[in-house]
Amino acid sequence: MRPAPARTPLPPALAAPPMRLTVHNTTVEKILTRTSGYLRTVASHSLQPYRGCSFGQTLCGAFCYVQHSRHLLSGRPWGTFLDVRTNAAASYLRSARAEAEWARRTGMPFGIFLSSVTDPFPPQEKQFGVTAALLEAMRERPPQQLIVQTHSPLVTEAIPRLRALQAAGVELRVQVTIETDRERLPGLPAPPASVRRRFEACRALKAAGLRTVVAVAPLLPIQDSRAFFRAVAEAADAVVIDHFVGGDGSARGTRTLRTALPDAMKTVEPRSVTLEYRDEMVLRAREFLPGRVGVGIDGFAGRYA
Ligand code: SF4
Repeated sequence: MRPAPARTPLPPALAAPPMRLTVHNTTVEKILTRTSGYLRTVASHSLQPYRGCSFGQTLCGAFCYVQHSRHLLSGRPWGTFLDVRTNAAASYLRSARAEAEWARRTGMPFGIFLSSVTDPFPPQEKQFGVTAALLEAMRERPPQQLIVQTHSPLVTEAIPRLRALQAAGVELRVQVTIETDRERLPGLPAPPASVRRRFEACRALKAAGLRTVVAVAPLLPIQDSRAFFRAVAEAADAVVIDHFVGGDGSARGTRTLRTALPDAMKTVEPRSVTLEYRDEMVLRAREFLPGRVGVGIDGFAGRYA
């Protein structure tokens, strides 16, 4: 039976959304989802420790493609709920062997994308530790690949567990999203954590010997592209640049065009809503990270040029 909902305000160190966030405990039947569509070439499986996202009312939530998933929302506004999958680690241990076998039969390595429709390190992770328990479970049954994707500097608290997985032979990448060097875009909320804190997290991950990637996804208008990509080159091993056109899972970025993001981008830099702008930023990135720039889905799959 579903326990009564608890209400948990976000800590002030991260974002302060205008609507209350409701946190539920819940369970999940199968924590490993076989990938399809956009993620198919990135990893064999995706894994969501939580359902919903407590960053949904921050900057990334304003254009997050998950907000268009009626199935996931079940009538709830995006960013107002976080369902905590308390049995995630147990579910992983129950199914990992069979899912690894399925991946092998399809000719793919058993790879996990953590996470595609939530953030694995929301502020509530400190309380519930679902992702931490999952990483422990993966030590018991390691996947071949693990791609951690987050907006949150709290990922640094997982460094010892991530290092243990890497030492166990897991091919690991930690991708921290830093979409721009600007702290705010006009008319849009603040990001889940400042640009400075996310860069600090990247430096800590890299210093710990973890393969660290900055995901500029989606690419937002960058104020000083030279300084930005110089900083990326210092803080990370590679960069992924993804534009909402072609990157939001819809033809020509139509999902994102329904949000407030494109107008905010145009206000700052009109060219930033075009793929020509992305290509310009890719060239700039290559000046500082030669051979370590991934574009779109190739970048998420770890293919750089
Ligand atoms: S952290 Fe990810 S899943 Fe959560 S709102 Fe931002 S983009 Fe969406």
